[in-house]
Amino acid sequence: MNFNKAHNIIGLRVLSDNVIWLWEKDKSVVVIDPSLHEPVVRYIEENNLQLKAILQTHHHSDHIGGTKYLMERWPNVKVIASSKEKKRIPFQNISVKDGETLNILGEKVKIIEVLGHTSSHIAFFLNSKTPVLFIGDTLFSGGCGRIFEGTFQQMYSSLKKIKLLPKKTLIYCAHEYTKANLLWALNLKPMDRDIKNKFLEVEKKLSLDELTIPFLLDEEMKINLFLRAKNLEEFIFLRTNKDLWV
Ligand SMILES: [Zn+2]
Repeated sequence: MNFNKAHNIIGLRVLSDNVIWLWEKDKSVVVIDPSLHEPVVRYIEENNLQLKAILQTHHHSDHIGGTKYLMERWPNVKVIASSKEKKRIPFQNISVKDGETLNILGEKVKIIEVLGHTSSHIAFFLNSKTPVLFIGDTLFSGGCGRIFEGTFQQMYSSLKKIKLLPKKTLIYCAHEYTKANLLWALNLKPMDRDIKNKFLEVEKKLSLDELTIPFLLDEEMKINLFLRAKNLEEFIFLRTNKDLWV
């Protein structure tokens, strides 16, 4: 299902909870974080598309696993990744830095560095009529990424950067973690009406086999405890608590 009226962005659910996003325009397509190649190839062939670019938010294998094969199959494809990741994403052929703007499928796409999950994680922001953010593993609905290489401060600052984007931004993250995140949030805030309502909405979507993402920034700011954290101390408490939650 496509929730975005301005852009044609399709999610392929793969592995246990990954989502590969495909952004289509005029028979061209851009893939974000292809963990696998098979479902991407199938979709592109069935829909007669031309693969133009692959956007990589970070180096984890469940984000870059399908890229090499796609590059062999479409040798002219542009692989866009952080210039800090030339070792761990060695096949990148367009290296980008924080604040740069690229032209992709006729749209201006801004690179926003969002450190914390890794030491070089980037997001791709389309500031169009319906703004779109491909956020990888930095923010999930109801949660945020684990801090593997960065610091609490870096992740907290990354979330602050996201909060400054237009409120109507549609956020496309790379995992369907929403239900588990909301269960954790409800355990901490059992009386929170906004989170409860979101949980019911999410359960309904999942029962219909629908994705719960993308999500709108302004709605997310009401139900995501990490985005609601008032200071670094509260953020550290939440992130540590979530890491221990089973
Ligand atoms: Zn990751």
